[in-house]
Amino acid sequence: IRSKLVAGNWKMHGGTIQNRELLNAIIAGTEELGEGGVAVFVPYPYLSQSQSILQKTHVSWGAQNVSQHDKGAYTGEVSAAMLMDFGCRYVIIGHSERRALYGEDSRTVALKFKAAQAAGLIPVLCIGETLDQREAVITEQVVAEQLDTVIELVGINALADSVLAYEPVWAIGTGKTATPEQAQDVHGFIRDRIAASNPEVAAELKVLYGGSVKASNAAELFAMPDIDGGLIGGASLIADEFIAICNAAR
Ligand code: 13P
Repeated sequence: IRSKLVAGNWKMHGGTIQNRELLNAIIAGTEELGEGGVAVFVPYPYLSQSQSILQKTHVSWGAQNVSQHDKGAYTGEVSAAMLMDFGCRYVIIGHSERRALYGEDSRTVALKFKAAQAAGLIPVLCIGETLDQREAVITEQVVAEQLDTVIELVGINALADSVLAYEPVWAIGTGKTATPEQAQDVHGFIRDRIAASNPEVAAELKVLYGGSVKASNAAELFAMPDIDGGLIGGASLIADEFIAICNAAR
């Protein structure tokens, strides 16, 4: 019942020349996935370029972060309304790099989730444990806390208009992918936890996996019952690799 989504998180990479080539290759190479199956998360300065190339195609675009505030004296920040102004459908919220490097705590992440939805964006909420936390066997507590803080602020029904991404921090950019079973365990935990409050929301909600997804491991991950696609970092910058990952979700 849940359709799959493969999304590229470009992080702080790109340039107008390479972007044009990469986006055109993605459009041509992923046609069969259709509307809603593919998205790219580009740096803010390239939203306009992405909009002009991707509008009227099946590929969606979004930003990697957003302010929790509507407007005001927040130098350097970008509001959800501004992202809507550039045709974004999605925005990544609470990526582990934002949490670890820019001090975004669960409360801030929840406020950003709320601001994104209020403007009409679909938040892609990232959650996941560090290696220390996995070794301490507190993965479920960590993920539950990250999720619950958002649910407490916006309510369980608001999750229906969002996407989750489980990204174990130890698997991000390390080449160390979670095994399909390791990922499924956590995805299943997440879905069960949401189902305990609202089974309909849980059944419909996409939960993506992120962390060293490549063309060579995408299919086995996407075959797991609670993995509804992927959030792809490094491999999303290489056209052939990203296209192959997208097609592994078909
Ligand atoms: P990598 O695919 O480079 O491990 O990055 C994953 C990620 O952080 C996507 O948001």
